[in-house]
Amino acid sequence: MTDPTPYPHLLSPLKVGTTELRNRVVMGSMHTGFDDHPWDVAKLAAFYEERARGGVALIITGGFAPNKRGWLKPFGSEMSSRLQAIRHQQVTSAVHRHDAKIFLQLLHAGRYGYNPLNASASAIKAPINPFKPKAMSGREVERTVDAFARSARLAQKAGYDGVEIMGSEGYGINQFLAERVNKRTDKWGGSAENRMRFPVEIVRRTRALVGPDFVIQYRISLLDLVEGGQSWDETVTLAKKLEEAGVDIFNTGIGWHESRVPTIITQVPRGAWVDSTAALRPHVSVPVIASNRINTPELGESIVASGTADAVSMARPFLADPDLVAKAASGRTDEINVCIACNQACLDHAFSNRKVSCLVNPRAGRETSLVLSPTRVRKSVAVVGAGPAGLSAAVAAAERGLQVTLFEQDAEIGGQFRLAMQVPGKEDFKDTVRYYARRLEVLGVDVRLGTRADEAALAPYDEVVVATGVEPRMPAIPGIDHPKAVSYADVLAGRVVPGRRVAVVGAGGIGVDMSVFLTHEEETLEEWKAHWGVGDFHLDRAGLTAAKPRTPAREVWLLQRKTSRIGKGLAKTSGWAHMAHLKQDGVHQVTGASYDLIDDAGLHITVTAADGSTTQQVLDVDHVVICAGQESVRDLAGEGRTIIGGADAAAELDAKRAILQGTELAASL
Ligand code: NAP
Ligand code: SF4
Repeated sequence: MTDPTPYPHLLSPLKVGTTELRNRVVMGSMHTGFDDHPWDVAKLAAFYEERARGGVALIITGGFAPNKRGWLKPFGSEMSSRLQAIRHQQVTSAVHRHDAKIFLQLLHAGRYGYNPLNASASAIKAPINPFKPKAMSGREVERTVDAFARSARLAQKAGYDGVEIMGSEGYGINQFLAERVNKRTDKWGGSAENRMRFPVEIVRRTRALVGPDFVIQYRISLLDLVEGGQSWDETVTLAKKLEEAGVDIFNTGIGWHESRVPTIITQVPRGAWVDSTAALRPHVSVPVIASNRINTPELGESIVASGTADAVSMARPFLADPDLVAKAASGRTDEINVCIACNQACLDHAFSNRKVSCLVNPRAGRETSLVLSPTRVRKSVAVVGAGPAGLSAAVAAAERGLQVTLFEQDAEIGGQFRLAMQVPGKEDFKDTVRYYARRLEVLGVDVRLGTRADEAALAPYDEVVVATGVEPRMPAIPGIDHPKAVSYADVLAGRVVPGRRVAVVGAGGIGVDMSVFLTHEEETLEEWKAHWGVGDFHLDRAGLTAAKPRTPAREVWLLQRKTSRIGKGLAKTSGWAHMAHLKQDGVHQVTGASYDLIDDAGLHITVTAADGSTTQQVLDVDHVVICAGQESVRDLAGEGRTIIGGADAAAELDAKRAILQGTELAASL
C-alpha cells in the first residue's frame, strides 16, 4: 500500500508529556502586535483560529512576560492576573475548536526589554537597546522565578495546553546562562552550575504548581553565536537538568538578537542549523523540535524522517500560508505559499512596533478586515501586468469568483520578482512565482502571456486593473548611451554579463542586491558558515570562530549621491547582514558622488567630502550598472481604471505594498 501522504513522518502523531500532537508541525512563537492590548484579543483569536483550522498541530503564542520587569516594551504583553487569563480563553477555545493545541510562551525580556523598568542578571546594556537594565537582587530573582510559575498556572486556567519557557535568542533566561552578561557572584552566577539555576528553578517550581498534565516546553539556545555565550557541554548539561526538573519537550533556538551572524533571513541556507538539534537529541529522552529556516514540508519530512528532530517549528511560514499542513496532507504542496524569509512585513514590523503581516500573504494579521468573500456578481476583470501587484489582484479576484483575464507582455509571469529571485540569497522568491502560477491554473484564470493588452483588447471587460509596473530609470549622465552603461534589469535578466570591475550607480535596495549579485561566488553550507565565523559548536564556545575571508567574484564600487551612510534605508532586521556581506566582499562604498561621464575609460566621478572638498576620479570599470530607481509604466491608465503597484507609484515601490494593494483591490471589486 502506498502512503496516503508524501510526508508520513511529519504528519504522524507525537506524544508530548501526557498529551498528543496530531502531527509534528509546530507554529513557532511570533510577536504579532495583537498580544499587548485587551481590545485586540478577538483579532488574536481569529489569527490563531485560521492557522489551527489549517492543520497545524501546535501553536506557540507570542511572548508574554511573567511580570513588569520582563516586559518587551512599555505595557507589553503580560500574563500575571486572573483577568488576563479569562480574556485568553477566547484564544484557546478558538484553537481547540479545530483540534489543535496551543501553548503560551513565557518570555522575560531581560536587557532586551525596550523600557526603563527592565532588569537582568547584571546591569550590562545590550548593544541593540538604549535602556540599561537594573541588576536583580537575590530576592528579585526568587520573585521572578515564582512569577514564571504563577504565569504558567494562569495559562493553565486560561485553557492553554502548556507553556513554552523562552530560554533562547538572548532574552532574560539566556542572559542568566551566559558569562557574557551574568557577572553575579551569588548563587545565580559565577560557575556554569550557578548560571543554570535560574531556568532550572523556573521549571521545577512551574512543574510543582501546574501538576503532571500540563506541558512544559523549554526553548533552549543551542548556539548563542555571541562572544561569552554558552559552550556545547554547558548546553547539554542544562538540557539534562531541565528534563529532570520537569520539561516535557525542547524547542530549539539559534543565535541572540545581538549576534552578528544572520540566522533566519533569506540568505541563510534552508535547514542551516539542524545539525546542533541532532546533536542534542541523544542526550535527552523527551522530544526535540528543530527550528530556524525550515519553510517547507519536504524539509520538515526529511528532518523528522532522518531522526534529526522529533518535530519541526515553523513560525513565519504560517503567516505566509495558514493552510500549509492541510495542503501538504492533501497532496497540494504545489499550492503552498512559501515564506521567502524576507522579514519585511513580519519581523521588521514587530521591531518597529507595528502589527505583523506577511509580504506574500497580506491577509495575515488582517483576518477580520481583509476578507475575500465569495461574490455572485458575474463581473469580468482584466488585469494588465503579471508582476506582484497584478498577480495578487488576479488571484484574489478569482478566489472571490470573478472572471479574470491576466495579460502579460513577457513570456513569463513574475515581473520585478523574477529579477529579484536572481539575487543570491533570494532564490526562495522563485517559490512565490511558482505559487502564483499554480493558483492561476487552479482558479482557471485566463492567462495571456506574450500579449500586450491594448484598448481594443480591454474594451469588453467590466473592470480593468492596470498593474503594468515599472521600468528602470536611466538618469541623464553624459555617456549613458555608452555600451558600458547597462540597467540592473539587463544584468539580472542575463542579457548582459558584466566584466570583472563594475561600478554600481545607486545604493538603494537594488544597488545593494546588485553588489551582492556581482561579488557572489557559489558556496556550500560549510563555506557559508565559515565566512560568517560559525565554527564547530562541539569545540568553539557559543559556536563562534574567526571568520574566513571571502573571495569576491568581481571588484565592485557602490555609489550614491547622498552623503549619508549607505544602507541606512535598508530593512531593520536584514539590512545589517547585507551590508556585512558587502564588507566581507570588499565592495568600495562611495558617497557624495556626482556622475560626470561614462566613456571607454570607465566612470568619471566627482566626490564631495564632508568638509566640502572635492576630488575627481575615473573608475576604470568594464561596466556601469544603473540602479537609480524606477519610473512608472502607465500607458493604459485610462478613466475608470484602477492603477496598482509600481504603475501607481514607482517611488519606494516594494512587493509588500504591491501585493497588499492588489489583494485589497480584489476584495473591493
Ligand atoms: P531606491 O531605494 O529608491 O534607490 C535608488 C537609488 O538611486 C538611490 O540610492 C538614489 O540615491 C539613486 N538615484 C535616484 N535617482 C537618481 C538619479 N537621477 N541619478 C543617479 N542616482 C539616482 O530604489 P531601488 O534600489 O531601485 O529599489 C526599489 C524598491 O525596491 C525600494 O523601495 C526598495 O526598498 C525595494 N527593494 C527592497 C529590497 C530589500 O531587500 N528589502 C531589495 C531591493 C529592492 P542618490 O539619490 O543618493 O544617488
Ligand atoms: Fe515570510 Fe516575508 Fe511573509 Fe515574513 S513577510 S512571513 S519573512 S514571506
